[in-house]
Amino acid sequence: MSRELTHYVGGKHVKGTSGRFGDVYNPSTGEIQSTVPLAGATEVEAAIATAQAAHPDWAATNPQRRARILHRFVDLVNKNMDELAALLTSEHGKTFADSKGDFARGLEVVEYCAGAPQLLKGEFSDGVGAGIDVHSMRQSLGVVAGITPFNFPAMIPLWKAGPALAAGNTYILKPSERDPSVPLRLAELFTEAGLPDGVFNVVNGDKEAVDALTADPRIQAIGFVGSTPIAKSLYAAAAAEGKRAQCFGGAKNHLVIMPDADMDMVADALIGSGYGSAGERCMAISVAIPVGEATADALVAKLKERIAGLRVGDGMDPDSDFGPVVAASAKARIEDYIQLGTDEGAELVIDGRGLSIPGHENGFWIGPTLFDHVTETMRIYREEIFGPVLCVVRAQDYEEALRLPSEHQYGNGVSIFTRDGDTARDFSSRVQVGMVGVNIPIPVPVSYYSFGGWKASGFGDLNQHGADAFRFYTKTKTVTTRWPSGIREGASFTMPEGS
Ligand code: NAD
Repeated sequence: MSRELTHYVGGKHVKGTSGRFGDVYNPSTGEIQSTVPLAGATEVEAAIATAQAAHPDWAATNPQRRARILHRFVDLVNKNMDELAALLTSEHGKTFADSKGDFARGLEVVEYCAGAPQLLKGEFSDGVGAGIDVHSMRQSLGVVAGITPFNFPAMIPLWKAGPALAAGNTYILKPSERDPSVPLRLAELFTEAGLPDGVFNVVNGDKEAVDALTADPRIQAIGFVGSTPIAKSLYAAAAAEGKRAQCFGGAKNHLVIMPDADMDMVADALIGSGYGSAGERCMAISVAIPVGEATADALVAKLKERIAGLRVGDGMDPDSDFGPVVAASAKARIEDYIQLGTDEGAELVIDGRGLSIPGHENGFWIGPTLFDHVTETMRIYREEIFGPVLCVVRAQDYEEALRLPSEHQYGNGVSIFTRDGDTARDFSSRVQVGMVGVNIPIPVPVSYYSFGGWKASGFGDLNQHGADAFRFYTKTKTVTTRWPSGIREGASFTMPEGS
């Protein structure tokens, strides 16, 4: 019997009423473990009304009190970490250790947001004219919505809710319908931490719920993370409704290997960043660009050696390096791309198709896959595969290696491995990508910097977390004040003359 999940509105679980449900799988067994309600417009509207009613009191709560609730929330998540990480693994498939990382990177942002009293401070200019001062203040927007992907069901909701709540907004999260249980648990823990009812709500659903959120004039801002076609169309739809929006999309992250790089370090970095979490990370490295044939030959040899030792298996098995992909449809899509790569003429060095794990024969497995001699015209290079597939594109020189990520449609992350500071500095400065690593394979910035890709990886002008998030989730009011001279000059015994 599968469990029926709910929404979470006004501080309690609410059953779905649309009559539509989605199946939630355990990707490791291929079994349906629960059903998730897919909200219709009426359910979305009820949640918005609840969040709207909760907004005035929450906005008027002083920022330090709001921050204390965030602190208590962080403590509660840490206290329940094992249970939460196991729940995440059961719906997503990533390893238990990686699930803990999913929470940890989300909590770092919530911790940063607990500094909201500082981050929300406005500006003040004294004496901009005779007796005139100007100050600005940051005020909450009202009800804001987050629409999040399956691949980080803890981290990305927290990246969005942390700053939104700290700034005094109330929040509606529409998480991925593939792994909704962790977002529901986060909502319970917010309540346990003392967050007033209606401040953080979860509405489960699909396109219908997203459309209802986008159309509703009470929603002031939309924060989206997911695939590029949806990011782009949602950005346009939100703008047409006069909402602010930040919509982050897909990726194709390159790692450039200069001939002077430490090749063992590079191979280890590529194995972790290419195959970790079955390649289902927006910052996964999916393209390796060795510079020069000798570098490429050495790299491919080292990758082959290491891939042979990788273990794919159930996420709760501590020996697994990575788990299954999230869904049968994802497995089919990735397998189609592997076939496409061979049809396009790339050299399939290691084929991850056809993997079966004893005892988990119906799981959504794909083994580590390696292509060599991929060229920039091939679709396996141009498109996001979002699976454990690494493509080697051989560059003849540094300029070609710099040009490839710069001209690619996506611009999320990129890395260079080299021992030469001058090359690294030139690369960081000239490459047309939003986040850059130097001898770091996955350059996800810490919470007090911001996260955001360029080109087709991000639509909108402000990034996630860091100070940008507070700019996104607040509106600025500027007050110009003149105080006519008062009684400090003492009593006046004559009638003032007009000017
Ligand atoms: P997805 O685009 O399928 O879904 C994302 C969200 O959009 C989900 O909540 C989903 O229910 C909703 N949605 C689906 N179809 C919709 C539609 N037609 N209209 C409106 N909403 C719709 O993405 P996914 O498969 O869950 O996640 C993987 C993608 O997310 C990859 O492309 C990955 O690169 C990207 N991603 C990007 C970042 C980033 O920061 N740039 C981070 C993580 C993941």
